[in-house]
Amino acid sequence: MTWAIVVHGGAKEIVPEQEDANRRGCLEAISAGQAILAQGGSAVDAVEAAIQVLESDPAFNAGYGSDLNAAGEVEMDAALMDGSNLAIGAVAAIQGVRHPISVARRMLGEPPTLLVGEGARRFAAAHGAELCDPGELISPRQDGSAERPHEHDTVGCVALDSSGRIAAGTSTGGLDGTHPGRVGDSPLPGCGFYADDQVGGVAFSGDGECIARVLLAARVMQALERNQAPQAAADTSLAHLERVGGEAGAIVLDRLGRVGWAHNSSHFAVAWVTDVMAAPSVRLRQDEEID
Ligand code: ASP
Repeated sequence: MTWAIVVHGGAKEIVPEQEDANRRGCLEAISAGQAILAQGGSAVDAVEAAIQVLESDPAFNAGYGSDLNAAGEVEMDAALMDGSNLAIGAVAAIQGVRHPISVARRMLGEPPTLLVGEGARRFAAAHGAELCDPGELISPRQDGSAERPHEHDTVGCVALDSSGRIAAGTSTGGLDGTHPGRVGDSPLPGCGFYADDQVGGVAFSGDGECIARVLLAARVMQALERNQAPQAAADTSLAHLERVGGEAGAIVLDRLGRVGWAHNSSHFAVAWVTDVMAAPSVRLRQDEEID
């Protein structure tokens, strides 16, 4: 195995009419990341590219198409972690940027690990990130959003490159109708994501407060350090949710490029490919037939 990449489009219910959009979006994201990894590019570049695709796709709650908070506004959280040096870039409750993941990426070399709100947007503007009017991120599917089911269609990606570097990223519009300024697990290391070349990487989706209270990403990393396989690490981390309730889904890669994923939501859109696979796999549920 020289490289591997796995993406998710959220731990949520996927109604039949949304199945194709979820499969297609995840496969497009994988293809963007795969193109970089197959040419010897970096895991950080691959994760940013894959998440940019998902942020542009209104089928997912990230970037364009983000859920609206109680004030009817889009506030987004994103994070990117470089497992080669444990650098973290994260933004929370940021408004008016096209690609929160790319703002997080620009923070990788900066001393702060997390910037919020207006400060995050000022950083984005000062560092050449693509800005937009905050209202431009509201997609047509958000019209009448009160009728939309409560969903967790945050996106995430973990990649291993051919130099052995691992990166993990998350991007989300948060939860529908939450208090302005509310921040979940997605930009918090050890909660919604983590990456370490010596161990592996993980990204979560789900009820952010529940995920944070039981430190799910940290639990996955600890399980990998104990030499659990990625699938077992994903499964055992989710068991900790029983204590606080809530839904979640996890994608996991270890340093050998082995993939694991698990969810306690009804669906979890996941796609992955490695250099030894003829084509990417995509699934909407763990018990779906393998394609
Ligand atoms: N985990 C995200 C949050 O709590 C929501 C999601 O996964 O959709 O903000």
